Amino acid sequence: MRGKIYLAEKRGFCSGVERAVKMVAQAVENGPFPVRVLHEIVHNENVVNDFAARGVCFYDTPDPEWKGGCLILSAHGVGKKLEEYVRSMSVEVMDATCPLVKKLHAAAAELESEGYTLLMAGKRVHRETEGVIGRVQYPPVVFENAAESQAFEPVPGKRYAVISQTTLSTDEYETILSVLRKKIPDLHVAGGICQATTSRQTAVKKLAEKCKRILVIGSTKSSNSKRLREVAESAGAEAVLISDVSGLPDSFFETSGDIGITSGASAPEYLVDDLIRKLQSYGWVLGD
Ligand code: SF4
Repeated sequence: MRGKIYLAEKRGFCSGVERAVKMVAQAVENGPFPVRVLHEIVHNENVVNDFAARGVCFYDTPDPEWKGGCLILSAHGVGKKLEEYVRSMSVEVMDATCPLVKKLHAAAAELESEGYTLLMAGKRVHRETEGVIGRVQYPPVVFENAAESQAFEPVPGKRYAVISQTTLSTDEYETILSVLRKKIPDLHVAGGICQATTSRQTAVKKLAEKCKRILVIGSTKSSNSKRLREVAESAGAEAVLISDVSGLPDSFFETSGDIGITSGASAPEYLVDDLIRKLQSYGWVLGD
């Protein structure tokens, strides 16, 4: 035996991804055709490629020439103007935006209408952040990490509220908040990180107590998958993010020692099963 395989208690598809994937699968069955998706439905190449092989077309921007068929908005959501534009087109729009992302859109707009200047913890180049920015009149100041919040200089007399991308690391968010609270004593904290993100990060920390090597299955484009790798590393494990089992070199299977496995919220469980099967074929066994 080379070692044991331990699985994170919480991993893989979250409710928002389940919902979005189901919406595309239903459109593939029932139309209206052609089935188009604006942006990647979720950040996972395997999911996108599987749907593309079934005739679904993915686009970065809408085409004014589209007539008929449907257009599905991705789980990450879009800004208000873009949504209004596609709804004015001659296509049936289906909205796969995660309800928790929509809640964040609503919170951002409400806070702004109450007179707050918005701050946001998150990644600038991410569909979700872009969608949130597109829901307010004045773009929030975005902090990707604590160092950036450290450099922020609040304007005296302004009322600030902070929101977060749903898939941020909870530890990173807490660090950003502690920096901001020192600078802005009356900071209004509105949150944003979803339960699926929190529970997967807690589970990978627990996994890191058992195994010093952790494999995270997920796309390099997936924010929550990247955060899982970072959280595992912060917890002391050696963590690798791979899109699927093919991402591991042959030499990996010649090693030994216990291995922990988790997967991002947009990674299908069959990718975990494929990895387990390959590890088992090289002599690892499933732990309790
Ligand atoms: S990670 Fe959270 S916010 Fe994002 S799709 Fe899943 S449940 Fe929704």
